Amino acid sequence: MQVLDFFSLKDKTALVTGARTGIGQAISVGLASAGAHVILLAHQDNLNETKKKIEQIGGTYDTVLIDLSDLSSVRDKLQPVLEKYDIDILVNNAGIIYREPAVDYSEQEWQRVMDVNIHSVFLLSQEIGKKMVERGSGKIINIASLLSFQGGVFVPAYTASKHAVAGLTKALANEWAGKGVQVNAIAPGYIATNNTEALRNDEQRSQAILERIPAGRWGVSDDLVGAAVFLASRASDYVNGHILVVDGGWMAR
Ligand code: NAP
Repeated sequence: MQVLDFFSLKDKTALVTGARTGIGQAISVGLASAGAHVILLAHQDNLNETKKKIEQIGGTYDTVLIDLSDLSSVRDKLQPVLEKYDIDILVNNAGIIYREPAVDYSEQEWQRVMDVNIHSVFLLSQEIGKKMVERGSGKIINIASLLSFQGGVFVPAYTASKHAVAGLTKALANEWAGKGVQVNAIAPGYIATNNTEALRNDEQRSQAILERIPAGRWGVSDDLVGAAVFLASRASDYVNGHILVVDGGWMAR
C-alpha cells in the first residue's frame, strides 16, 4: 500500500453542514476529490455553486435541507438520510456569528448562535455518531475557531459556542476513541469568507489582524482542505480529540 492510499476516501460517504459557501464548500469539494460521496447539508436550496464544483472534478453528491437553528426538526429531517446512507464522515461546519458589545448583546441572538454553533453539532454528532459506534468506525470533524482558545471582541456567544465545540470534541473523543470513531476538530485562523466580511471591511481591524499573522496573509477556504481530508481518512486513525489549528501561525505569535 502506498502512503497516499491512506488518504483516499473512496467508497466513503461524508455529510458536510454549511456546504453552500466558504469553508464548507471547499471541504465538500475536497472530500469529493479524495473519492467520497458527499451529502451537502444546507438550510436553503441554493447549492448550485457547490454542486457544479463537485461535478467539474467528477465527484458525486446528494443534498439535504435542514435548518440547524430549528433544533426541534433536526432529528426528524435527518432520518431519511440515515435510512439511505451509512455516513462514514461527519463535518460539523455550519456556523454563524453575531457581533455586538457584551453590555447590549441580544439574548435572542445569543440563543441563535448557540443553537447553530453548538447545540445542533451535538444533535448531529449524537444521531450520526451512534450509528458509527454501532458499526465500529467513523470520523467526526468539528469546525472550531481561534475563539476556541481566545476571547475575541464583541462576539461573546460565538466565543462561548466555539469553546464548547472544542470541549465537545474532546468529550466525544474520550467516549468513542475505543469504539473506532475518531472525533477531532479544525480551528481555522482568519479566513476570507462571509463570516469575516465585517472584519475585512473594517480597514483598521483587518490591518491589525494581518500584522499578527506570521504567514503574512489571510487564509482562504482551500487552506483547510488538506487538514479535513487527513482527519476524514485512515491516515488519522490514531488521532483523537485533537484541535488542529490551521492559522498561518497566529497562535504561535
Ligand atoms: P460562511 O460562508 O458564512 O459559512 C457558514 C455556513 O453555515 C453557510 O453555508 C451557511 O449557509 C451555513 N448556515 C448558517 N446558518 C445555518 C443554519 N441555520 N442551518 C444550516 N446551515 C447554516 O462562513 P465560513 O467562514 O465558511 O464558516 C464555516 C465555519 O467556519 C463556521 O463554523 C465558522 O464559525 C468557522 N470559522 C470560520 C473562520 C473564518 O475566518 N472564516 C474562522 C474560524 C472558524 P447560508 O450561507 O446559506 O446561510
